[in-house]
Amino acid sequence: EAMSSITVPPPKCLQKTFVAPRRHMFGPGPSNVPPRILAAGAEPIIGHMHPEMLEIMSDIKSGIQYAFQTQNNMTIAVSGTGHTAMECAIFNAVEPGEGVLTAVNGIWGERAAEMAERIGARVNSIVTTAGGYFTSEEIDRALAKHKPVLFFLTHGESSTGVVHPLDGIGDICHKHNCLFLVDCVASMGGAPLHMDKQGIDILYSGSQKVLNAPPGTAPISFSERACQKVFNRKTKPVSFFLDMTWLANYWGCDGKPARIYHHTAPVSAFYSLRESLAILAEQGLENSWQRHKEVAEYFHEGLENMGLKLFVKDKNARLPTVTTIVSPPGYDWKEITSYIMKNHNLEISGGLGPSVGQVLRVGLMGGNSSKASVDMVLEALRDALRYCHKSKV
Ligand code: PMP
Repeated sequence: EAMSSITVPPPKCLQKTFVAPRRHMFGPGPSNVPPRILAAGAEPIIGHMHPEMLEIMSDIKSGIQYAFQTQNNMTIAVSGTGHTAMECAIFNAVEPGEGVLTAVNGIWGERAAEMAERIGARVNSIVTTAGGYFTSEEIDRALAKHKPVLFFLTHGESSTGVVHPLDGIGDICHKHNCLFLVDCVASMGGAPLHMDKQGIDILYSGSQKVLNAPPGTAPISFSERACQKVFNRKTKPVSFFLDMTWLANYWGCDGKPARIYHHTAPVSAFYSLRESLAILAEQGLENSWQRHKEVAEYFHEGLENMGLKLFVKDKNARLPTVTTIVSPPGYDWKEITSYIMKNHNLEISGGLGPSVGQVLRVGLMGGNSSKASVDMVLEALRDALRYCHKSKV
């Protein structure tokens, strides 16, 4: 018998068939993917440069322009998650030694600062408490002081449950000759957002929240002003994969007749993303914003009726997609989330970054934003508070 060259045997675990559990995905993401979007992702693979694929990419571009409310030609989906789009924005807009200002009212401003530091930018931050946000005056003063080329702000702070006001900030940035970069991963489709009208220069999102598509693709758009900076750099961006010169050609945004292979598109993920944008367009953006608002208000009322407290005191600053609840006093938040997962097959989560240990987070996004989902979450919480261990406070 011939000796096998194999020294690592086939793993036993792979002999078992995997079936994903059915869960209510009511954490801060990913959200449940409806059958129509799952089915789109199960279509046969075609080549990433086939004409039908280029048409799908063009449809995705139109869908993102609608979802972002922008006419920007430079509008694409990055192959990767929200973090990939964050790095795409920062890596392309900033050169080593340039100044970046980040607004930190949760984890996303911290992460943006770290990304900018890694490419050798001069980074400053304005910081406020978790649950808070910034006034235009504070932003104006910090821009005057630090003179950055890029200002980062999170529209929907999913770690604290805050929706940040955007009106007027674009103009302030431009007065200081600075680009306005906004993260709308957790808010797009769930809270009013007008990229062009609000003077946002770079805006990015993710597929796995309000869009209800699988994680792994991330919409991003660059204004004319942002393009002026991105395409007139002295140095090449550190990332080949995220270089907008390449991606612009790949997405047919550079006006050149020939598309050059850059990377293999995640074909199935693009099918799903296209379908999710089609659903948003069918439903209408304003209807979606309104539904998320009404469902969030219904949820917040139900929580307060149970004696629970909302983490964000200012009603107008509450993010309609992700609700933060003050961790119930006397309870261990981990026991509550585990109890609800085990007994209700429902995901809610604890805090993240500065809100760890302080809050429970519930995300009701896209198709999950309904009164029926709210009733399910309230029932699960009521049950958990009855059965989980409570210490004498
Ligand atoms: N920004 C915000 C506001 C988010 O909520 C998230 C995801 N939780 C991200 C960025 C990062 O996205 P991803 O996990 O897809 O990389």
